[in-house]
Amino acid sequence: MSKTDDNLMEKIVSLCKRRGFVFQSSEIYGGLAGFYDYGHYGLALQNNIKNSWWKKFVDSRRDMYGLNSSIIFNPKVWVASGHVAGFLSTTPEGKKFNEMFQTQVGAGEEAITSYLRPETAQGIFVNFKNLIDAHHPKLPFGIAQIGKAFRNEIAPRDFLFRQREFEQMEIEYFVRASEWEKYFEYWKDEMLEWMKEIGIDMTKVHELEVPNGERAHYSKRTTDFEFDYPFGRKELFGLAYRTNFDLSNHKLDYIDEEKNEKIVPHVIEPTFGVDRAVLALLLSAYKEDPEGKQVSNGAGEKDGPRVYLKFKPNMAPVICAVSPLLKNKPELVEYANTKVYAPLKAEFGRVAWDDNGNIGKRYRRQDEIGTPYCIVIDFDTLKDDTVTIRDRDTALQERIKVSDLVKYIEEKI
Ligand code: ATP
Repeated sequence: MSKTDDNLMEKIVSLCKRRGFVFQSSEIYGGLAGFYDYGHYGLALQNNIKNSWWKKFVDSRRDMYGLNSSIIFNPKVWVASGHVAGFLSTTPEGKKFNEMFQTQVGAGEEAITSYLRPETAQGIFVNFKNLIDAHHPKLPFGIAQIGKAFRNEIAPRDFLFRQREFEQMEIEYFVRASEWEKYFEYWKDEMLEWMKEIGIDMTKVHELEVPNGERAHYSKRTTDFEFDYPFGRKELFGLAYRTNFDLSNHKLDYIDEEKNEKIVPHVIEPTFGVDRAVLALLLSAYKEDPEGKQVSNGAGEKDGPRVYLKFKPNMAPVICAVSPLLKNKPELVEYANTKVYAPLKAEFGRVAWDDNGNIGKRYRRQDEIGTPYCIVIDFDTLKDDTVTIRDRDTALQERIKVSDLVKYIEEKI
């Protein structure tokens, strides 16, 4: 472990709370193990991840269809999928235990027992016929879904890594049986490319061929993409060859017009956990700059190495922060608000207004949020229409014209 890895998880968890990324769920009542709430900046990071995923895997392709299915299904779905019989864990008492959360649907004698979905994938399979009838897709094609999944994990732990309520981004890609190996390799490359694109530290990502006997009940081949978390090398995302197990069990098929025959397509499943993506990005982006001169003057904040989150600008919760040097000087505030903040906000959306505390403290805060640029409006601005723009990674400042700000940031991102 490098020096930075000492207590890294503790540092990340406390930064996430301090800066409004992630909170323990129902914290004022002592919390509940395995549940977390995302605050303003964590949600922005999560949305950037999801948007980038949707853009790459759905919007920019011709062969992908989106879906947003319900979370609770007719329980027959989970019998057919094998989850009622097979989605089991073993308790420390050595008892078999189904990880699906049960819930009652309806009242009194009418009530039936169903489950909160433990994966988004089944929503896709049970809508297979609807999608075929609506879009008439030709093989190969995929259906993609982002949504919550629930598992009554026996030992939730490691912050966002193992939760009981989490979010998945899943694709079921339907292919002819003879072509599964080709598309398995293809999706492996696509997954790796996206991880790189969003800024996951690829030196920490490793492929694991999951051996016989350790794969999920539906899988004939699985490659896990593991990540070097501070608590060990563990799964980040997965790629599975689900054969035609699910469609067969749901008695669904497809007319292959090319061959003029009825077939049950085979499935390649790239699956991504949103929360593990958030955690891997936080861990990839976390930097300590021991040379950083930034000492805090603020109450309750300790001096120490400059901490910053080196997100790619398109993933950063905030693209730039705008600060009037002094918040009690109306001429500075007015200028900062109308001539800098408003146009940047209209252009980039993810722009923060920060006038809280002295400039050092604001930089420290924005560094920890991972804001690539901080813009300060001072008395010279009023004379010559220039501002200071500070770079998060180098902590260097330069002076640029207000009229060049949008172009400057656009070029950088
Ligand atoms: P693990 O072996 O870590 O329990 P898994 O193999 O059961 O994971 P999958 O069923 O393949 O996981 O789920 C797909 C993805 O959903 C995983 O790659 C992971 O990113 C995410 N995921 C699974 N379980 C959890 C969880 N308890 N908390 C957060 N994310 C999860």
